[in-house]
Amino acid sequence: MYIRKKYRELLNLADNEFIIPATFQKFIMEREKLHNLIIKGKRGICWCTCCGHNFVSQTKVNCLIKCPNCKQKLLVKTDRLQSYIFKDNLQLLDKIQDTFVLRTFELYSYYSNNNVSHNITEFMRTFIENNSAIDFVSDQVCNHMGYMYVSHFRPRKSWRGRNYRWSYRDIRGMVCPYGLKRILSKTVLKYSQLDTFISKERDYINFVDYFTRLAHYPSFELLIKMKLFNLAKSADKFRSGKNFQEVFGVPKTFYTFIKKHNLSYEQLEVLILIKKEDIKLINKLLRFNNLEELSRYVDLEEAYYKVLKVKRNNEYDYLDYLKACVELQYPMKDKKVLYPKDLKFEHDRVTNLVEVVKNEANDRLIKQRLKTLNQNIYQNDKYIIFPAPSIESLIEESNQLEHCVKTYSQRYALAETDIYFLRNINDKDKPLVTIEVQHNNIVQARIKHNDNPSKEQQKFLDLWQAKILHRIVG
Ligand SMILES: [Zn+2]
Repeated sequence: MYIRKKYRELLNLADNEFIIPATFQKFIMEREKLHNLIIKGKRGICWCTCCGHNFVSQTKVNCLIKCPNCKQKLLVKTDRLQSYIFKDNLQLLDKIQDTFVLRTFELYSYYSNNNVSHNITEFMRTFIENNSAIDFVSDQVCNHMGYMYVSHFRPRKSWRGRNYRWSYRDIRGMVCPYGLKRILSKTVLKYSQLDTFISKERDYINFVDYFTRLAHYPSFELLIKMKLFNLAKSADKFRSGKNFQEVFGVPKTFYTFIKKHNLSYEQLEVLILIKKEDIKLINKLLRFNNLEELSRYVDLEEAYYKVLKVKRNNEYDYLDYLKACVELQYPMKDKKVLYPKDLKFEHDRVTNLVEVVKNEANDRLIKQRLKTLNQNIYQNDKYIIFPAPSIESLIEESNQLEHCVKTYSQRYALAETDIYFLRNINDKDKPLVTIEVQHNNIVQARIKHNDNPSKEQQKFLDLWQAKILHRIVG
């Protein structure tokens, strides 16, 4: 793949100048310690691959345990384990000339024969300039059936542009916090607190996004200074405000709670709605999508424990149910209405009722319309045409002809369109052709399955339109 001359030169320069600084070495060693196991043998005798310490524990395989000697929290595995692989992306922000480069390394650790060996290989360099980032990968990056892996035992010979079609494990990684403050000190991010954030956040992040966008929001610096590290990840969602209430949506008395539980933006959104320092409830409510709308009708805490918590209930049915209750003018302060014992049953009951009420209202309107529309009744010795007389007749017409005229009932009732039935004069109860008329013009005529009427029926319809709808005296 072609690499622009400028980047080609920078890559060559970096190959000569880049080193592994002592600060990054320290970071690697910290991460290496986590790439260890507790090997459990007979009678619960455990052995720590990190420090070699032996101890007895009844902790189960695949659980985490803290080594009593080196204090590392590690995964317990059986002594029958043949091999085990750890992989982590570690990242270092560096600079070549005036260009920032995010260097990505893979820390690859391999356990076998009671021994863990570690390898570190720099496989990607991301040049960050003017808020855009371009990735280059080394020829140690291989592709096996679309899955990318790093070949640690092949020496690096060259760099190439990243192939974005490959499923890389993305450009996310754990960023080295040491020395970051110094490298940021000559940039606009000098006071952004990004270095503090990185030193607290010991997890994978998309550093480029923080470096080019998120950390530039004034709210980012503010949130870090307030020690609200998870909220800082959504710094872009905060608008400025005169006081705590305006910025966070809750009174300042909630600050200690938000900080203590390091709330995320999604958790804060729930807190704003429930206004209660209850982290368990907040986490339980997190999985619902319509909390804001639900909160207009019900108390979310009560709604959760009485309705939403029940497995077969879902929030969409609940919302449907509540809206139907409002339409039916039920007392919306009555707890029996708000928190039904059997949601499924009550939901079906009230939604049917709403349908019936709606149909009744529409039926009354249709009956009134007939006074005028009946003037258009027309017949010859074979056919008769007359306006749809009721909601019931529309439903029957739909069912028998298997089309959807019943969905027109509301518009028909409101005089937005007119519906007529064409039938045999000797069999007036049997649906045959359904006609829609607008502004005295036939806009569609349909027989069963939405097919067109016969030639004879069409001729009769044309005559009706001319003589009756258009009042042409023949
Ligand atoms: Zn240990």
